[in-house]
Amino acid sequence: MTNQNSVPEILKQFWGYEEFRPLQADAIEATLHGRDSLVVLPTGGGKSVCYQIPALVQQRLTVVVSPLISLMKDQVDALRSLGISAAALNSSIPAASQQAALERWQAGQLRLLYVAPERLLADSLLDRLQQNPPGQFAIDEAHCISSWGHDFRPEYRMLASLKSHFPNIPIAAYTATATPEVRDDIVRQLQLENPVVLVGDFHRPNLTYHVQRRQDGYNQICSVMDRYRGQAGIIYTIARNHAEQLSDYLNRLGYKTLPYHAKLTEQEKTKHQDALEQDEVEAIVATIAFGMGIDKSNVRYVIHAEMPRSIENYQQESGRAGRDGLPSECWLLHSASDLMAWERIVQQSSNEQRERARASLKSVEQFCHGLTCRHQYLAEYFGQSFAPPCNACDVCLGKLAAVAEPLRIGQMILSAVLRCHENFGIGHIAKVLVGSKEAKLVQFGHHELTTWGLLKEHSNRQVRDWIEQMLSQGFLERGGEYNVLRLTATGREVLRGQRTPTLVQTVKASPAVTSLKVFDSWEGVDRDLFEQLRQLRRELALEAQVAAFIVFSDATLRDLARRRPTRRDMLLSVHGIGERKATDYGDSVMQLIGKWCAERNIPSDLTLPNVFRAGDESVGSKPVKLNAIAAFPLFAEGLTVEQVAERIGRANSTVFEYLEAYIKQQRITDVSRWVEPSLAKKIRIAASYNDTCRLRPLFEAFHGKVPYETLRIVLACQSVESTHVGRHRVYLGGAPD
Ligand code: ADP
Ligand code: ZN
Repeated sequence: MTNQNSVPEILKQFWGYEEFRPLQADAIEATLHGRDSLVVLPTGGGKSVCYQIPALVQQRLTVVVSPLISLMKDQVDALRSLGISAAALNSSIPAASQQAALERWQAGQLRLLYVAPERLLADSLLDRLQQNPPGQFAIDEAHCISSWGHDFRPEYRMLASLKSHFPNIPIAAYTATATPEVRDDIVRQLQLENPVVLVGDFHRPNLTYHVQRRQDGYNQICSVMDRYRGQAGIIYTIARNHAEQLSDYLNRLGYKTLPYHAKLTEQEKTKHQDALEQDEVEAIVATIAFGMGIDKSNVRYVIHAEMPRSIENYQQESGRAGRDGLPSECWLLHSASDLMAWERIVQQSSNEQRERARASLKSVEQFCHGLTCRHQYLAEYFGQSFAPPCNACDVCLGKLAAVAEPLRIGQMILSAVLRCHENFGIGHIAKVLVGSKEAKLVQFGHHELTTWGLLKEHSNRQVRDWIEQMLSQGFLERGGEYNVLRLTATGREVLRGQRTPTLVQTVKASPAVTSLKVFDSWEGVDRDLFEQLRQLRRELALEAQVAAFIVFSDATLRDLARRRPTRRDMLLSVHGIGERKATDYGDSVMQLIGKWCAERNIPSDLTLPNVFRAGDESVGSKPVKLNAIAAFPLFAEGLTVEQVAERIGRANSTVFEYLEAYIKQQRITDVSRWVEPSLAKKIRIAASYNDTCRLRPLFEAFHGKVPYETLRIVLACQSVESTHVGRHRVYLGGAPD
């Protein structure tokens, strides 16, 4: 017995998605052909759908092995909200419900069954499975089977016997950890037979990476949180007490956060995690203990308040931002003291582990102090290639630059260390170099050193930063009780001019840059309507007793506020709304939207193109190129398109594209600077009769006499205007019907 619908139809019918993401269709096909598979997709890549759809196609049970109870719960809730029969077997579920699940399975009604590995291979379940075999086994978080990975779970090793128990049933292993070592280990341990191996693209275009030296106080953290008030984030620290302190501190500043670490009771952990999922707190301040259980798709930022312990960890932890594909930010704040904190932890482990841990930390240091595009570094670390610029990291956005004379500055630092007889720490050396007259310095006579004040035109913070960069590149080392700085052999080579360090500094970039992508995904979204829908989502979630994001993702809310559906057929065109969600929540949503539009006399049921394209959910319009940003100040000065084109040496048509980006980014509604007002008015009237988003009908309406560029500029201003909240709205001509 199989489902009559095709695989893409099932995706639309249940999930409300238009197309597959990369490799999803291949993964599904492998299972449907009875093949074993290993599927490596980044967090947010959409692994669940890959093993859920075969169950619907074959109308047979899929057994999903999952490491965490909380993970199972979210998945089961999510599936039920889509109208798919799912259950989990674990200790947190009342015996009666587990019994009911088993009965549904026996009756052939259950599609997905989530179990922990140890439970799967317990005799009672094994017997049942042998009598009534499933269509496939899916192993989620499969890297837990590998001791090479960073999340090794001994229980996963029991899965090694799965293949011998069920030689004819396909096993599909899923993971987001891509190092080739771990990959091979998974295949070996699970004894996969000639598996289809699918490795996705690890580039996450919707994440913007920033790496900065941590400054005193928590301003860097607060400034990120301030930009996302009312939205969710995760903040990582190294140790339990850091997480507690930081969370306390943030609460005193008026942010709502909770800590999360291994020392909390299971109950507290669940409570804190739920608080994040239900949007009761803005952020969780966590140690490494927080992670796998979190399935929340609308995490808007992940801040590492301290260095992560490996690039694998960083990729996984930062990857928890923006699983819904919407623009999100990842910040890594680091300081030399983080290495010492890790060192203390590392020392408690075995010799072999210690070596590996130190090597991992070295890569993190490199990442922190390097000038390589962050996306490129991460991709290459996992064996993939990536050609910068990414336009989504501090390096590519021009926030970091190599210093002009790294050798000279490096030598100054090293000689200051030598002149102080290798007897002082970072703080003191920095003060010498910037020319401080602090009592302690004078007391040692260090204000008379030839190196005193050599870097006085730079800030103390900057100089400390460079000293740390010298440390991380191994030209200096720290030792002794007071962490005094000493030269290494390679440091001496720098001093002799035989080697040049790489030193970087932060440059002030225009603040416009970071907000660019964030705005794009709001294109055409009415913020006020969005907020009202968000409130409704909260109520619906409470009523259904599920997490808010299980009702609708943020991407779905935005698409609702963009299309404003009041009819079921239009509702089904919204991203992420399939038949079940339309049935369960459609009436309340359409009622709210209908009322909202009527009160404001704003058209509903817009037909818009699908802005969610595979692999790039974030951006409806083309991403803004770096060159465009160079043109922005010129537009602000009031230069015409022609003048700007001449200044930056680009074609007029290109500059028009930049102008369109500028208008959207600056939210400009008045087009009169570029287009003669009476013409602009005519264009708007004509556009209001044009119910598609295509420009061609509009172009033809003016008999080809108004260039496409002009039309686009006018429409850009108009779309900004229609997303303004609470402003007076002018609709020239009738609203489209
Ligand atoms: P992973 O387990 O790989 O981290 P998930 O399976 O949780 O990712 O999927 C991440 C998000 O992407 C979920 O909200 C999911 O519904 C959504 N998603 C999955 N497949 C698609 C698709 N083809 N189109 C749009 N969204 C999708
Ligand atoms: Zn980059």
